[in-house]
Amino acid sequence: MNCIAPPSRLLLGPGPSMVHPRVLAAMSTPLVGHLDPYFLGLLDDVQDSLRALFGTGNAMTIPISGTGSAGMEACFANLIEDGDEVVIGRNGVFGTRMCEVASRLGAKVVAVDAEWGEVIEDGDVAKALASCGKPKLVAVVHAETSTGAWQPLAGISGVAHDAGALMLADTVTSLAGCPVDVDANGIDVAYSGTQKCLSCPPGLSPVTFNERAMEALDSRRSKVRSWYLDLSLIANYFGSDRVYHHTAPVSMIYALAEALRLIEEEGLTARFARHERNHRALMAGLSRLGLEPAAREGHRLWMLNSVKLPEGLDEAVIRRRLLFDHGIEIGPGLGPLAGKVWRIGLMGESSRETNVRRLLLALSAELDAGPSAALDAADQVYAQSH
Ligand SMILES: *Cc1c(COP(=O)(O)O)cnc(C)c1O
Repeated sequence: MNCIAPPSRLLLGPGPSMVHPRVLAAMSTPLVGHLDPYFLGLLDDVQDSLRALFGTGNAMTIPISGTGSAGMEACFANLIEDGDEVVIGRNGVFGTRMCEVASRLGAKVVAVDAEWGEVIEDGDVAKALASCGKPKLVAVVHAETSTGAWQPLAGISGVAHDAGALMLADTVTSLAGCPVDVDANGIDVAYSGTQKCLSCPPGLSPVTFNERAMEALDSRRSKVRSWYLDLSLIANYFGSDRVYHHTAPVSMIYALAEALRLIEEEGLTARFARHERNHRALMAGLSRLGLEPAAREGHRLWMLNSVKLPEGLDEAVIRRRLLFDHGIEIGPGLGPLAGKVWRIGLMGESSRETNVRRLLLALSAELDAGPSAALDAADQVYAQSH
């Protein structure tokens, strides 16, 4: 084993994002026991802070041990029983993954498809619900990281509730980058992840369940299929009983607590405005380089910028040069978008003016454009918005 000496990278891919030095420092502080009164107090603070971030009063708002996908699995595992009808929006990798997770848990999945880069329409969800007998759940991805599409939530949650179903939203890439407003949007269940706009290493998945969702959990006929992710057991640790279920990942909780403190210091309004400003500046610059947005107009994420590549460009070669010559990571297209798009993340700490400039400069060099055109376009956006 050599000593660990990772290269210096600017992380502008689809996650993980850059982590603030204060978060890294928090992770290297000494451990306490997971039942230590100090740690339990810290957990209470983390829960309060997550409620403010999600925009919810839900008592059951906790960080699940595991990455965003563990949160996805936790939400479905706690709500689904054999044969439950579940309507899922499928317009990218993560909607597709939700279908896979739900069907493995025994759900009867009714997928609502849209082109990658498009959003799921309320009317299509209503049609799918009408084809069900007794739909249990509707699930969509708020911020589709594989395409850059920003999914509106309120309309779909209305349609779901009219049909007597619960509304679930994947907010892995949206939380802490744009408003999520769980309660105002009528979302019953949501999960997120620490490694995107929270700018914390991968390893925890904040989830929130409202009372309707907790009633669905309490009235299950069968046990939750996953012991590790069973919220009725985990609740006894986060609740007043403080019963051991599994050892909380202490250092990850330190990291999340510090990341949440940084978010509170900045303020959500300023943080969202920063994400929007840097997105607009980056897109203006990329457009000068001939890279146009891939997601539908009016539905483009601030934190994940998906751009179409010119025909014949050997994109993998340029990405490799970005990584090894410039120290910058960006993301490739996935599935049907492989080789057709790049995905540039401006999430949390990664969403900084200096990072936008550094990437535009590096891409200008690699795409044989002069250094000034793209930077000038970005500067115009910054000049208007300061
Ligand atoms: C990243 C991501 C996930 C999965 O999170 P992991 O941390 O990779 O497990 C789920 N949904 C969306 C929208 C994501 O961007």
